[in-house]
Amino acid sequence: MQDIPVVIVGGGLSGLYAAFLLEQKGIAYRLLEARDTFGGRIAVAKYPDAHATNNNTDIDQAESSAAFDLGPSWFWPDYQTQLSSLVESLNLSRFAQFEEGDMMVERIANQPPVRMQGYKSAPPSMRLVGGMAALTDALYARDASCIMTSQTVRQLNKTSQYIEVQSEDSSGHMTTLRAKHVLLALPPRLVEGRIAFQPALPQDLSEQWRETATWMAPHAKYVAVYESPFWRDAGFSGAARSAIGPLTEIHDASTLEGDGALFGFFGVPVQVRQSVSDTVLKEHCRAQLVRLFGEQANTTKAEYLKDWAKDPLTAMSADASGNGQHAVAPPSKPKTGMWQDCITGCGSEWSAQFPGYVAGAIDAATVAVQSLPATILRQ
Ligand SMILES: Cc1cc2nc3c(=O)[nH]c(=O)nc-3n(C[C@H](O)[C@H](O)[C@H](O)COP(=O)(O)OP(=O)(O)OC[C@H]3O[C@@H](n4cnc5c(N)ncnc54)[C@H](O)[C@@H]3O)c2cc1C
Repeated sequence: MQDIPVVIVGGGLSGLYAAFLLEQKGIAYRLLEARDTFGGRIAVAKYPDAHATNNNTDIDQAESSAAFDLGPSWFWPDYQTQLSSLVESLNLSRFAQFEEGDMMVERIANQPPVRMQGYKSAPPSMRLVGGMAALTDALYARDASCIMTSQTVRQLNKTSQYIEVQSEDSSGHMTTLRAKHVLLALPPRLVEGRIAFQPALPQDLSEQWRETATWMAPHAKYVAVYESPFWRDAGFSGAARSAIGPLTEIHDASTLEGDGALFGFFGVPVQVRQSVSDTVLKEHCRAQLVRLFGEQANTTKAEYLKDWAKDPLTAMSADASGNGQHAVAPPSKPKTGMWQDCITGCGSEWSAQFPGYVAGAIDAATVAVQSLPATILRQ
């Protein structure tokens, strides 16, 4: 059994950024990530895909291909200044969401959609070249040696000296690490629902973590890739709103290099989505894009669908009925009992400033690392 000052649970942006900060401070750590890749809710589909044919749903790591966001696309540097500085310091390129031109609106079934004047977001929503995964890739590239994938943390046991962190790999093999402190870099609801604590967490804290909805967990995204952004030639921005569906909100997702793409959020509830195959859902999405932008919308090079509500490493069953609001950040650590001063929540939902946002993952990780006990910070 190894002794480590800090174990980070979760290799999404908050976990990777906490690792980056610990590295800078010279504090030893291990990061345990359940998926076989890192990034968490930050995920991209790559086209062309190195390992698969068109119309697949794989999230892939192919080099030299166009990246399309299946999770977050946007950040707002005007007020998310810490995230913006990080993007700059990692030499990542940004560009504004394409919003030039008219939008389409569908209000009533069996009636043609209406062309309307589009509007621009203020401040502008910014995207990263290479997709949002450019950020997690850049952090991972800094130091991957202490990051372990395919390690699902199942249980934390508190002894008088340390915390035993028990994780399971894909073949069911269990590993135990001994840590002085554990940073919980995943949504509070997942911590409470999927990780066993021995002894149990204080009841009020457990309840608060369970009640904290995971941002975007009920949602699903569809992406259609085209040879070029043909809708722009007709004066459309690619944006659309629909009361008919299956997509409720559609945006241009084209790359700066000129690969055309549209993406949309589903308006169909989780239970209905889960009763239909991905193939059928994609057909309905494509038919909607044809209604909105014409026959050329049928000429997809690739289509991707990511249903986050079906992903047990993001969503719990309680997330099926989200109210669409960002949850208020719960307390990040127990104030009493045996777990006091030895675990800290640092997933994005724990950010008081930007709960649930990409910028929140950076904020929560910063606050969590800054508030580590002095005995660890002095090492
Ligand atoms: C469709 C979608 C669109 C979004 N759009 C935007 C946007 O435009 N702008 C924006 O600011 N935000 C957006 N968000 C939110 C943003 O993605 C998140 O705030 C951010 O990525 C959260 O990072 P995180 O590290 O806190 O959590 P996560 O990314 O959820 O990372 C948690 C990690 O923990 C791992 N894990 C879970 N359980 C265990 C376990 N038991 N053991 C070990 N590891 C475990 C998971 O696999 C995951 O990698 C969007 C999210 C989604 C899903």
